[in-house]
Amino acid sequence: MPATCAVYNCGSEGERVLPLLAGGEVRIEYVTCVDHDAAIRGGEEYLIEGRGRSGREILMGNDLPPKLKSISTSGLGNSSVLYLNLVLRNGEEGQVAVTVTPEDLELLGNPISKESMFEPTPIAEQ
Ligand SMILES: [Zn+2]
Repeated sequence: MPATCAVYNCGSEGERVLPLLAGGEVRIEYVTCVDHDAAIRGGEEYLIEGRGRSGREILMGNDLPPKLKSISTSGLGNSSVLYLNLVLRNGEEGQVAVTVTPEDLELLGNPISKESMFEPTPIAEQ
């Protein structure tokens, strides 16, 4: 039975193998359609996320998470709020508010400061 492309919301037949090197060494293969294989190899933005029944899927285009536009805060009252001001992939703007403690802010700083988080996952040789 032919596999469907691993890109979320793509119903095309999977005809290409995309081997990613997780952590630079663990080979994980995804089956994609011809168009998405070309798009990913051409440098188009994508993200692997556990989603849906089949587990890991590839998010692209409007299915990618919003982009962060700015961060603002409010400390009025007895609760502190961090606002993530977002640009959705369809161009609309949105906002997520979370109440935070000083410890939460330290927690947020840790993964953000890790440079490795921003390195693209290498695509392996076929
Ligand atoms: Zn596809």
